Amino acid sequence: MLKIDCLVSGGIITNYKCSSKCRHCCYSSSPKWPDDYMTFSMADEIFSILKSMGCHYVHIGGGEPLLKPDKILDVLDAARKNNIEIEYIETNSSWFRDEASANAVLKELKDHGVNTLLISIDPFHNEYIPFWKVKALIKACSKAEMNVFPWLMEFWDDIDAMDDKKLHSIDEYKQLFGPAYQLQLLKRYGLNLKGRALKTYKPMMKKQSYEQIMNESKSCQLLSGIYHFHVDLYGNFIPQSCPGFSIPLRELVRGADPGKYRIFDSLESAGIRSFAELAAKEYGYKPKEEYAGRCDLCYDMRNYLVLELGLDLPDLKPENHYKYV
Ligand code: SF4
Ligand code: SF4
Repeated sequence: MLKIDCLVSGGIITNYKCSSKCRHCCYSSSPKWPDDYMTFSMADEIFSILKSMGCHYVHIGGGEPLLKPDKILDVLDAARKNNIEIEYIETNSSWFRDEASANAVLKELKDHGVNTLLISIDPFHNEYIPFWKVKALIKACSKAEMNVFPWLMEFWDDIDAMDDKKLHSIDEYKQLFGPAYQLQLLKRYGLNLKGRALKTYKPMMKKQSYEQIMNESKSCQLLSGIYHFHVDLYGNFIPQSCPGFSIPLRELVRGADPGKYRIFDSLESAGIRSFAELAAKEYGYKPKEEYAGRCDLCYDMRNYLVLELGLDLPDLKPENHYKYV
């Protein structure tokens, strides 16, 4: 059985749709995703399960959770009903228009028990969101007595060296700070190279032969992230660092059938070798000579199954993770 017995702390993905299409986004969020948001009944079910598993607080992320600020209020009501504390809501600040409208949103959030916003601050977001919006939102939070969790202050001076009224590409950052800038961001940010982030950094990554990846195969432990799991708006459990895989949370707490979620189970129990054998034997996947590591091979096989063969596999969800990378 694929089963989790305890969850301590995690995040709720209320929507995948986003105003931005950041190159470092491991969820592959973008404006192209459907305009779907977590409903009250889904949030109520998720929070009630989380509570029963020992999880008493969550953060809210996306996508951009405040893309349509009123859509999040039902989720906050459901959290309150289940006595789940909201640690913070992540936001990219794109929704900031002016002080008055921002104040109204902040007041509503505070009235619904939210006391902290995690505000994204990094050059990837600056390709889509002018820095003046970030600064103005921080100022508005200060006035509204909403705490700010700046993520990450380390990039403030880099971004502030540019005109804050305009958008700035990573190429501009490279021109200003040197050609290695994008590669340095990898470590400075501590990026999770999955989804679009993998696509962005793949050309810069060291290659490994297929054989070497097979020989080094070990369990990916998709179920082990009890401190930083995510549950999305469709009620699916998203493993700690591997988006694009999912199992309905309600099944996972009872014990999900490994025969139904064969890809998830192969990676959880034995690792990439087991998935590669399954993909070759059952679906005719033909491996290449080399990859940018095991996760590149994993994505190549998943893309083949979802995009090339068009298979509707219950553990490779949501499909848009692959489609809108
Ligand atoms: S990193 Fe955040 S702001 Fe950027 S595309 Fe992903 S969800 Fe949207
Ligand atoms: S091989 Fe696949 S399941 Fe394992 S860590 Fe990489 S992306 Fe995740």
